[in-house]
Amino acid sequence: MAETRKHGFESLQIHGGALPDSATGARQTPIYQSTGFVFKDVEHAAALFDLKEVGYIYSRLTNPTVSALQERIATLEDGIGAVCCSSGHAAQIMALFPLMQVGNNVVVSSRLYGGTVTQFSHTIKRFGWEARFVDFDDVDAIAAAVDEDTRAIFCESIANPAGHLTDIPSVAKVANQVGLPLIVDNTTATPYLCNPIEMGATLVVHSTTKYLTGNGTVTGGCVVDSGKFDWSATKKFPSLSEPEDAYHGLKFHETFGQFAFTLHGIAVGLRDLGMTMNPQAAHYTMLGIETLSLRMQRHVENAQAVAEWLQEHLAVENVSYSGLQSSSQYALQQKLYPKGAGALFSFSMKDGYDTCVRLVENLELVSHVANLGDAKTLIIHSASTTHRQLTEDQQSAAGAGPNVLRISVGIETVEDIIADLEQAIEKALM
Ligand SMILES: *Cc1c(COP(=O)(O)O)cnc(C)c1O
Repeated sequence: MAETRKHGFESLQIHGGALPDSATGARQTPIYQSTGFVFKDVEHAAALFDLKEVGYIYSRLTNPTVSALQERIATLEDGIGAVCCSSGHAAQIMALFPLMQVGNNVVVSSRLYGGTVTQFSHTIKRFGWEARFVDFDDVDAIAAAVDEDTRAIFCESIANPAGHLTDIPSVAKVANQVGLPLIVDNTTATPYLCNPIEMGATLVVHSTTKYLTGNGTVTGGCVVDSGKFDWSATKKFPSLSEPEDAYHGLKFHETFGQFAFTLHGIAVGLRDLGMTMNPQAAHYTMLGIETLSLRMQRHVENAQAVAEWLQEHLAVENVSYSGLQSSSQYALQQKLYPKGAGALFSFSMKDGYDTCVRLVENLELVSHVANLGDAKTLIIHSASTTHRQLTEDQQSAAGAGPNVLRISVGIETVEDIIADLEQAIEKALM
């Protein structure tokens, strides 16, 4: 048989993980709205429970619609497997869970989604885990923060909220030197603009809530494994390399090789943490991904135009968009993110907090929403909303000071987005 040609991104986003339904011929992947699945016989059931055979038992663990989505995202990210879960925040816990024991830490970028800063600086402490925040532009500082108890390095590709780009190959080099997995949150770039695994990441996490679904309908998350990390090279990852009591002493890495992390995510993570994606959500996200490349092209094109327009506006102090030639990150963007700098960025007004609040309140087409990656243009004043739980120092470190607005540029007619911003800025300054 002739060697099959690898399909392009646009084909994979439509066909990856999904064949016509074997039971009915349905061309679109059906929503398998079923909690349980009938075993062929007792032997079949036993094989499934012992992880000797892959199949469907119960939808907390696996579901055919969710499986199709998992395979599609893994394909687009060049991963070996993926586990979907109920939200992006669930995905972050699901990524760390197999790696971390009580007393372990993760070295994380100080530029992260506000909710992730909160999850990492407060909530994970209850598990006996610690996050160490470091400026990832300084790769020496990453290495310096690593100690014997570090189990992972974590960053975002295009970092929230300012659209700051991470130099993933440089960070991956450090992770490789210290022998730790690099986890990249690729939510804001999507696999269309950035392929973290190709740049050296071990794991990729997503909030599928955002661009992958693309229309603000369902929350979801995903963890993709590259299959490239040797979990048994040290004794640091006992959940993957040592016997698992709940499976008669099975060793995940020894038994499943490259699939160890993914199977652990399903067989232990979803089984016991229960942060499962439902098949309806998987269906919406599959539909969204079918048009990902088209939407991202328009998102990026519109973002570039809006950023250029804002940059020229007299009331605007600064536009933090790496697609602008004036950006200190422009060269990095051209090199690592050549298809575009994303559609999420922040800008600061010359006037402070009150002007930003008035601006947001006077917008008509653009919505004031704590979300991003929607077809609709969304704006948020981070200091009074998503980042209000943070201290002022943390706000500034995350690029969310009082005069800063974050915009997620949608795919509407770009002249309409600009006209709306123009009238709202005018009213805010009155
Ligand atoms: C939204 C978001 C999250 C959290 O995802 P949820 O689906 O809201 O739980 C994590 N990281 C980034 C970059 C995000 O934008």
